[in-house]
Amino acid sequence: MNAPFSPSTLEQLRQDLAQTPRQLFINGRFEAAASGKLIDVVDPATGQNFAQVAAGEAEDIDCAVRAARAAFDGPAWSGTHPSARARLMLKLADLIEAHGERIALTETLDNGMPFMMAKFAAVMGAAEQLRYNAGWATKLAGETLNPSSPGEWHAYTLREPVGVVGAIVPWNFPFVMAVSKIAPALAAGCTVVLKPAEQTPLSAVILAELIAEAGFPEGVINIVTGYGETAGAALVDHPLVDKISFTGSTSVGKKIVCAATGNLKRVTLELGGKSPVMIFGDADVERAIPAAAMGIFGNAGQVCAAGSRLFVHESVYDRVVEGISARAASLRLGSGLLPTTEMGPLVSDEQRRRVLGYINSGADEGANVQVGGQAADGDGYFVQPTVLTGTASGMKVVEEEIFGPVLCAMRFGDDDLEAIAAQANASQYGLAASIWTRDISTAHKMARRVRAGTVRINGGGGVDPAMPLGGFKQSGWGRENGKAGVENFTELKSVTVAL
Ligand code: ADP
Repeated sequence: MNAPFSPSTLEQLRQDLAQTPRQLFINGRFEAAASGKLIDVVDPATGQNFAQVAAGEAEDIDCAVRAARAAFDGPAWSGTHPSARARLMLKLADLIEAHGERIALTETLDNGMPFMMAKFAAVMGAAEQLRYNAGWATKLAGETLNPSSPGEWHAYTLREPVGVVGAIVPWNFPFVMAVSKIAPALAAGCTVVLKPAEQTPLSAVILAELIAEAGFPEGVINIVTGYGETAGAALVDHPLVDKISFTGSTSVGKKIVCAATGNLKRVTLELGGKSPVMIFGDADVERAIPAAAMGIFGNAGQVCAAGSRLFVHESVYDRVVEGISARAASLRLGSGLLPTTEMGPLVSDEQRRRVLGYINSGADEGANVQVGGQAADGDGYFVQPTVLTGTASGMKVVEEEIFGPVLCAMRFGDDDLEAIAAQANASQYGLAASIWTRDISTAHKMARRVRAGTVRINGGGGVDPAMPLGGFKQSGWGRENGKAGVENFTELKSVTVAL
């Protein structure tokens, strides 16, 4: 099988990355961190350093925030018509597609995900985010209202941009996550300082190049690579930032809520999950099996909405668990650059140790390792796709987010929907849920009963820019995507005119 990319592009990229450390992008210019510090970037498929990126800190964040503030407060961006903002966003989408191979290769080297996943989920997903949100730039509007106070009134609302946005993103889908925050912010008329994850900073630097090429005014989008505790914390703390849009772990999300109180920034959070997959006795099991396997082994389980708790009716339990386990055993692990690879490594050694620790804790608490359970051979941070059976609520592997390719399988015996929903809802999280049944009534009843922000019935599928995404309970605050997502980057103002 031939590589689905040009080997010379990869070679050129590798040479270029090895020679030149990547810089910060502040006020339209590329520059080193004020401290001169660098972060080593590791290829998780080999464990080798292959690039360096500037380690921005508080001083760099301050420069970036001031640039974003000036761009927001001045006419260059706020005075730009919505249609002109939309055109710039559409141009950036085209540039992303035109540079898709380089972006996807960077994503694969940096994060480990298979190249085709990087191409479709990251590059195409990012272009679609920009195109979808570009449409909102010209359509965000207030309403006219009818007050009941005595007198005659003309009353209406205005939707105004919230201001300077600090966007903090994780390492699991670095490029599309960054664009998913920038796109609605731009549509709403905000300016942005983006802080990529320290593990996967490289594709954001390509994004900066394309932003410059697209012709956005200086300071509208600034990108500061750096560590969470330094650059990320400085961004959350900064008094000139109006909103933080964060995607990452629930524990860091809680820290951000506390740190944002200084100037009462708006905060939206897209956090962890422990999403249930419920397969009823009448389900189309042959479709449910590959979808459930993809839902937990896709991107090596490093997906906030991964279907990590499987509840199966006892009449089909053995068939489903055997089917998913067979797929797990046959998945080809390897470098994301190999065309045969179906599952890449975990992002870091730390993450691999964490995931293996969870698998061991499951075994200690009485779970059976049906398949997988080990680190895979080789230098990279690979963990075998793993199915645990004999799991039950109360076990750490069932309660906590593992963020790896580990499925906990449980059975249910009766058809009492309330009892099944109670099991599915027995979690601190509420991000997503999947329901598999041919009974239309069961499907919709369960969709109502499950406490999760995203429900899928009889199908898997990825994130769609039109579909709101976000969590109940400790899975987050607010929604991304859709109208709700872009409105989260606005303030609502009411205006009353006495006639
Ligand atoms: P994960 O647990 O998936 O690695 P994290 O929640 O730790 O994800 O990280 C997500 C993003 O949050 C990263 O960009 C990281 O640098 C950033 N981050 C981590 N700690 C903080 C913090 N205290 N303040 C702001 N950002 C942080």
